[in-house]
Amino acid sequence: MRFTAFSDRAARMVRHPGFYKFAVLVAVSGGGAVAYADARSDPSSEYAQAGPKKKLVVLGTGWAGTSFLKNLDTSLYDVRVVSPRNYFAFTPLLPSVTCGTVEPRSIVEPIRNIMRKKTGPIRFSEAECYNIDPTNKKVLCRSTIGTNLDGNGEFELDYDYLVVALGARPNTFNTPGVSEHCHFLKEVEDAQRIRRSVMNCFEKASLPNLSEEERKKNLHFVVIGGGPTGVEFAAELHDFVQEDLSKLYPNALELVKISLIEAGEHILTMFDKRITQFAEEKFQRDGIDVKTNFKVVKVSGDAITMTNSSTGEVNVPYGMAVWSTGIGTRPIILDFMKQIDQGNRRVLATDEWLRVLGCENIYALGDCATIAQRKVMDDISSIFKVADKDNSGTLTVKEIKDVLEDIIERYPQVALYLKTKQMKDFLDLLKESESDVVKESVELDIERFKKALSQVDSQVKMLPATAQVAAQEGEYLAKCFNRMKFCEENPEGPLRIRGEGRHRFKPFRYRHLGQFAPLGGEQTAAQLPGDWISIGHSSQWLWYSVYASKQVSWRTRILVVSDWMRRFIFGRDSSCI
Ligand code: FAD
Ligand code: MG
Repeated sequence: MRFTAFSDRAARMVRHPGFYKFAVLVAVSGGGAVAYADARSDPSSEYAQAGPKKKLVVLGTGWAGTSFLKNLDTSLYDVRVVSPRNYFAFTPLLPSVTCGTVEPRSIVEPIRNIMRKKTGPIRFSEAECYNIDPTNKKVLCRSTIGTNLDGNGEFELDYDYLVVALGARPNTFNTPGVSEHCHFLKEVEDAQRIRRSVMNCFEKASLPNLSEEERKKNLHFVVIGGGPTGVEFAAELHDFVQEDLSKLYPNALELVKISLIEAGEHILTMFDKRITQFAEEKFQRDGIDVKTNFKVVKVSGDAITMTNSSTGEVNVPYGMAVWSTGIGTRPIILDFMKQIDQGNRRVLATDEWLRVLGCENIYALGDCATIAQRKVMDDISSIFKVADKDNSGTLTVKEIKDVLEDIIERYPQVALYLKTKQMKDFLDLLKESESDVVKESVELDIERFKKALSQVDSQVKMLPATAQVAAQEGEYLAKCFNRMKFCEENPEGPLRIRGEGRHRFKPFRYRHLGQFAPLGGEQTAAQLPGDWISIGHSSQWLWYSVYASKQVSWRTRILVVSDWMRRFIFGRDSSCI
């Protein structure tokens, strides 16, 4: 069978010693991980501020905010952290919490544990920020604790620097009934609710005096959204039912149905086609009903209404539904964007140094923001001017070579374009745009220079909204903050194209370390850099080792691993707690 052949190939690849070397590298490098080491002091520490420290306010304790805090030299700033969650949650394991494979407290770390290990003091407030006021440099916050508070729990914080790491919210695309009737899978509480709800469905279906139809309805679990979260939850639920609940509810087993609804043509479209195909076929074998090209248009208490071009509108009765179709912008970010003339955008835009466009001293990272990479074509005249050192109005190849490194650092799309087209240097670019033979002695005017670079902006890429990106951004920004004073005097970034001198810092650069899609039955699909695909039981072990190594602390690492062992030995717990 094709799949077996493919799996064999995948397995062979995994057996390759290089693969494990890579796995270990991924595990220990912890690109998305937030390692416990405090920020090291470096030569820049002699630049530590004298006098009152600058006020640094951090909003959010998710992947981006926590990674920032862990890497920040907190002795340099007066740090205040505001978040309605006094803990960090390891979101990649949330789907495992929905079925009790892992317990919720095993994947969270109290933020005060993290703060305690820092050299300088940090003050934390469990509250939500409801307004960012860039004009007066303050944020307005209110406590979310709610009871017995003197006053109404509201307070203001002034800042010199503000780091916005507020994450995103689930996106319902304004589909009626979703907020009222569906579960989301975004927070730890969501996963806990789903776990209770799954068990309630089984208990409800086991009550006396129910018709077969009613039992079936209660045991119909619908997952809307065929992205990694929806797929992983469907796989977890399938395993839970087959491995554990089948023994406890033997009569219910043949009535259980899991449906996965996806509006697009395929599930897991962000993965390689081979993984998509493997996942679809595996789900089919497992009896998970994958409905692609179906768009959910309404959810009521009894049924989910969806449309498809061939069947038209269909109503499907269900017992429990999980909505996981992607993320949207939080209202506070939308308000803030209106204030700073970004109202026409979908997400908060920053430059390549994570500074919010149109603001001073406000940084944004993680799911709430996106980097608006500057286009080469927008700056082409300035680039030409910077390169033309002798002001001759033309560029020699030497002049271009002298600035190429800075250009590539400032505009990574140039390097990407060269790589995609398998070109070595600028001369190759020029050869592509001009059919004539190009010599080293060529001199370019602005028009020829423009023509040579005209296609490179096609390689501008948006970064995905993932923990890996958020954690790397947090680490990058903390390192910039640690070296702020030093780099002001010793700038290390690329040449300023539209100004004088150099940028203080190198721009943020994302390193993709690969991604996983657990598919149930102890099988995982892994897509690693360099188009490395591996599917099967061996990559499940890779998944275990990477996720254990990326835990935020030894405490959570031990808890998670012991949860996995408990599950192997005793199975998952089915109590409706
Ligand atoms: P978050 O981690 O969401 O943190 C936002 C923080 O802001 C939270 O602390 C929140 O409490 C706080 N906050 C919210 N509102 C306010 C307010 N008004 N004032 C103050 N604070 C506020 N990514 C991967 O790379 N790999 C995976 O395997 C993976 N699996 C996932 C599985 C699930 C189920 C989910 C939901 C996500 C998964 N992700 C994964 C995506 C990843 O979790 C996000 O990309 C990541 O959490 C983004 O980090 P963030 O810091 O921007 O936001
Ligand atoms: Mg010149």
